[in-house]
Amino acid sequence: MNKVLSVSFGEIALKGKNRFYFENRLIRNIKNILNEIGENKVYKEQSKIYIEIENDYIDEAIRKLRRIFGIVNISPCYRIEKDIDEIMKSSLETLEEARKLKGIKTFKVDVNRADKRFEPNSVELAREVGAYILKNSEGFTVDVHNPDAYVHIDIRTNCYIYTDKIKAYGGLPVGTNGKGLLLLSGGIDSPVAGFLIAKRGVEISAVHYHSYPFTSERAEEKVKTLAKILTRYCGRIKLFSVNILDIQKEINAKCPEDEMTIISRRFMMRIAEKIALKEEIDALITGESLGQVASQTIKGINVTNSSVNIPVLRPLIGMDKVDITEISKDIGTYETSILPFEDCCTVFLPKHPVTRPKLEDIEESEKVLNIEELIDKAIEKMIVYKVKPE
Ligand code: ATP
Ligand code: MG
Repeated sequence: MNKVLSVSFGEIALKGKNRFYFENRLIRNIKNILNEIGENKVYKEQSKIYIEIENDYIDEAIRKLRRIFGIVNISPCYRIEKDIDEIMKSSLETLEEARKLKGIKTFKVDVNRADKRFEPNSVELAREVGAYILKNSEGFTVDVHNPDAYVHIDIRTNCYIYTDKIKAYGGLPVGTNGKGLLLLSGGIDSPVAGFLIAKRGVEISAVHYHSYPFTSERAEEKVKTLAKILTRYCGRIKLFSVNILDIQKEINAKCPEDEMTIISRRFMMRIAEKIALKEEIDALITGESLGQVASQTIKGINVTNSSVNIPVLRPLIGMDKVDITEISKDIGTYETSILPFEDCCTVFLPKHPVTRPKLEDIEESEKVLNIEELIDKAIEKMIVYKVKPE
């Protein structure tokens, strides 16, 4: 018998009147991903989403669905008539299948009756199905407290039976919460920052700064690869690649050496703000984490921040590097992030960067620069890539 996939979503259900908006966006995001795999039908049945897809594609579909934000878990299930004999037979079959894969000895039947008109009630049905399984199989016992497997029976318009609940990331569907522009370096932190903000439903674009030919083409390729990995979760990403070498040269020639990093940072923020305004993007996103490096002291972050008016989201601000690294391994960006290509920030790295910059001092130093002109020139020459999911 063919299986369908059921998808449950947690937080969206709490959204009251907006719920349909969130659900419909989630369905659209699911269809976008599944259409690349094979023919499918996606439908809603009382606050769950179901997917019909050819069974050969189920594993691939699950792998891709796990990365769609808004989905809490996914279950391959039998869809059957609301008929008690069929329910009993399919329950046993589901449990036998699970035993083949996982060596299950104990089980518990869990009934969810969204259709309250269905008789018998949940407790009675669970008892009847449990008794049927025990009578028609060998080696299973019931354990209501800590079973090896649950046999879930969902009574809706149809009846659905499954044991597995494959965990996904949760969060909110991408596209339901505005747009953000991620400052994407080649490091470990910024891809994780983008992932975490996309998980809150934000559509992501990205900007990368480089100092070609001081930094290599391979450094640029690395960032494109990181963006590509992020598209698994975020969908398409527009990536703006901006050469800031001329700006860095200008700062290097005209400003105090120890302020090089912080002033470059302020340029990165200003350029990002300008791109954001043009693209109707609501916020910037960075991978800054308090105290991680010299430029990320509270004072340093404040001075960087003062260069722009647009809100800046810093999801990693209170996180330790170990925890950030763990997420980057989980989402698949780590291996690429640790490739040893030069970063534009190290091109004119001061020996002793200021750790407690004063805004007045920095603004004073910047007076010799033609800020607007430098920004406009850099933006004029920027390259835009449309990065699509594989
Ligand atoms: P990451 O691992 O993300 O590179 P980091 O720990 O190296 O972060 P910094 O180099 O201080 O920290 O950068 C702080 C943030 O500034 C980055 O997380 C990123 O959002 C942004 N940033 C730094 N360099 C670049 C760059 N070349 N292009 C785009 N954004 C950058
Ligand atoms: Mg970095």
